[in-house]
Amino acid sequence: MDGRHTRESVLDQMRLLRTLRGPRAHAQLIGGEVTLLPAQDHAATLQTMREHGREPMSMSHGDFDYDYLEAVALGPDGRRRFDRLSFAGHFDMMMFGRRGIARPRDEAALNPYRTEFVARFARLRREHGVRSFLAHNMTVTAANVGQIAGVVHDCGLMGFGLFSFQPAAQVGDERRWRGADTAVTSDRVWAEIERGVGTRLPYRALQHGDERCNRTTYGFYVGSDYYPILDDTKAADLEVRDAFQRHVAGIVVGATPQPIVAIKVVRVLARHPRVLLAFAQWTARTVTSVGPFNLLRHGVRSVTFVMHSFMDASVVKPAWEAMQRGETLTDPAMVEAQERLAACSYAMAHPETGALVPACVQHSVLDPLANIELRKQLPLTVL
Ligand code: SF4
Repeated sequence: MDGRHTRESVLDQMRLLRTLRGPRAHAQLIGGEVTLLPAQDHAATLQTMREHGREPMSMSHGDFDYDYLEAVALGPDGRRRFDRLSFAGHFDMMMFGRRGIARPRDEAALNPYRTEFVARFARLRREHGVRSFLAHNMTVTAANVGQIAGVVHDCGLMGFGLFSFQPAAQVGDERRWRGADTAVTSDRVWAEIERGVGTRLPYRALQHGDERCNRTTYGFYVGSDYYPILDDTKAADLEVRDAFQRHVAGIVVGATPQPIVAIKVVRVLARHPRVLLAFAQWTARTVTSVGPFNLLRHGVRSVTFVMHSFMDASVVKPAWEAMQRGETLTDPAMVEAQERLAACSYAMAHPETGALVPACVQHSVLDPLANIELRKQLPLTVL
């Protein structure tokens, strides 16, 4: 991978994101396998993202050595370059070629590799004091949908702070999708996650973009029991959510010195004492439902569950092309696609056009065109 090209392109993208989306946000470093970048370029790219107010997450297959991670985290002088790193490890049985397990027979066979991934970051913290936030990504098809519960059950307490499940969209070479099982619905995937967690996962309290694209439950484990922080059927929880959104959510926490965050929070609470009351009541309810003894004995481990459902190319392409012409379509499938694209929360920056483009459009419309160009620029040699 071309480190210089990556650094320059990401810099342009971050400038555009800052202009269009404001000073602070999360952003993923994605595209190919990021750990194929030289470690120094990977680190420099993360620094660029931070300098532009983005909290970066490196998206990887997780098949890299500790030495590589150390080289990203530490400067050439051996001193800590980052206090904290965020990585997402993509593990599922449809990914072939992982060292030591080229063709996993099932999801459980990958558990030692998931454990090793987390252990590398634990070692980084032990040896160099670099903290980490780790996500677990898994693509879901008919082949592994029935194994989601097992993954959640086995890995929930492994050290990941977030589990993201992505039902596979029908994008790319159509031959891959002939006869594909359409039974992998969002409801089925979510039910499997709930089966693994062992409790209902309310996802309507906080919504990112469109519900047909994203479901999210924020919560925490105490021992092996999972507790969502908000129940979307309880009015009292929704009141706390509203108080938080109205008065606290605008406070930027990432990259802001903690004393300044604390002053801002105190100022909000002084001006809106009802917010403090709402949080105090929520805390009392939560401690009662978890049990104070349980809390003291096990502590709290925060874990978020996410499902992100990309759309199939067959709907994205016509819906997007019509949007570019300023047309609103009436076919129900197209109405849904246009609504979801308009509410997209997962955009990619295109500095060459000055536009942000939904990732669905990137995968379904722009990548196929870019691949034709790449094939001309990088002719493959068949050996
Ligand atoms: S990329 Fe955007 S439009 Fe597509 S599924 Fe994700 S959030 Fe929805």
